[in-house]
Amino acid sequence: MFSIIDFKKRKTLVAGLGKSGICALKLLHSKGFDVKGCDRDKNILENPDIRTLIEKGIEIEISDNFETMINNSDLIVLSPGIDQRESIYKQAQEKGKTVTGELEAAWSFIEKPVTAITGTNGKSTVTELTADMLLHSGKKVFRGGNLGTPLSAAVSDQDKYDVFILEVSSFQIDTSINFSPNVGLILNITPDHLDRYENFEDYKKSKLSLFKNFNTKNTAITNYNEALDFKTNAARSYFNTLSPDFNSAAADEKTLQISFNQETQSINLKKFRLKGSHNYENLSAAAITALESGANIEGIKKAVDTFNPLPHRMEYIGSIDNVSFIDDSKATNPDSVIKAVEGLDLEISLILGGKDKGYDYGLMSEAVNNKVKNLILIGEAAEKINRQINFKGKTIFAPSMKEAVEKGFENLDGKGYVLLSPACSSFDMFKNYGHRGEVFKNSFKDLKRSRKA
Ligand code: ADP
Repeated sequence: MFSIIDFKKRKTLVAGLGKSGICALKLLHSKGFDVKGCDRDKNILENPDIRTLIEKGIEIEISDNFETMINNSDLIVLSPGIDQRESIYKQAQEKGKTVTGELEAAWSFIEKPVTAITGTNGKSTVTELTADMLLHSGKKVFRGGNLGTPLSAAVSDQDKYDVFILEVSSFQIDTSINFSPNVGLILNITPDHLDRYENFEDYKKSKLSLFKNFNTKNTAITNYNEALDFKTNAARSYFNTLSPDFNSAAADEKTLQISFNQETQSINLKKFRLKGSHNYENLSAAAITALESGANIEGIKKAVDTFNPLPHRMEYIGSIDNVSFIDDSKATNPDSVIKAVEGLDLEISLILGGKDKGYDYGLMSEAVNNKVKNLILIGEAAEKINRQINFKGKTIFAPSMKEAVEKGFENLDGKGYVLLSPACSSFDMFKNYGHRGEVFKNSFKDLKRSRKA
């Protein structure tokens, strides 16, 4: 049975020194572990946090080949950014080393209740919403994990918190060993990250393994209307349904209804600002997860009335004439794009494309053909999308975001939506999805200014 403490007197290697790797290194060093770090990017040596670690005497190696470091280590803490198919992963496993990740390492030191939220889409939205519901219920909440602050950074001041609400990715679940949050939520599983998994089945298995260590003391929450193939003896709660027989929640545009511990409650959604059927699913998931984590109905009501949409998720940027510009740059897989176009009621110029993540873009064909007037294709994946989507309307290839925005607007006859919902990652043209969204926003502003001039 794995126990991280057993490795304290042995040698640990943190491989991949992004934000979570650095935090893991700091944590394990502070706990007295004999720990080293490695990365293949020499630019990390400019990072002030890395410099501080080196000053403390922690060895950091920059190399493409970590074989010697792996040979000299007993425990390897792998960054979620490292592909399971990469040589470092394989080498470590072949040499019989114990391989884990930052989430497991940090969780091993957490003594407070933990709730973990995963899924293909909506993790960040639901993590924030759940955390707000608990906050408004008077709880001291840590929110982080795959979003914002890594869990490792919160270990030393865990006494400040009543409950930990974590967004977790499938890559973090893959490297977990004993990880067993008190409450676990799987929001949805649709094709994503097919550049990192052999196929959809493998990706599904990864997500479902959130529940692998669950027993009767844990609560597993899933979508009542999504058939997921797993067995557990954990307590079960559901979102997207309402039943007096078990803890559950469901929402539509008017009301959030909750059945919790045999009591039924109804919350008015007049002030709830998130729109679209997927957000009513998200809300019901957050409500039941928050209640299972210690929230009360008053706290849920307050969060419902005050929660603001997160940036780059169906974010309204502004309008020219009757054309609204919507930034959904965070939509990096087909299902999020389907939900985006289905949620809009007028003609759409849809900006799609970027770096391919291995999808079949034909999955979006029906929704796009039903709702979209113009398809504006950008980035490396443009040709592949064009081939697979079988679009009947007007298709335009744009060399830049600026041109994509202009062409999207010009082809709408003064009404409808220019929607950036790209179904791809951003790294071919931008630093990240946030940068892509900012360039979209600035292109909108330039267009608006040029029309006034
Ligand atoms: P994640 O953290 O899982 O990426 P986000 O809350 O950041 O999730 O949302 C990512 C994208 O998915 C956005 O485009 C958002 O509009 C869309 N989205 C949010 N919730 C859902 C859902 N339940 N189903 C499908 N798409 C969703």
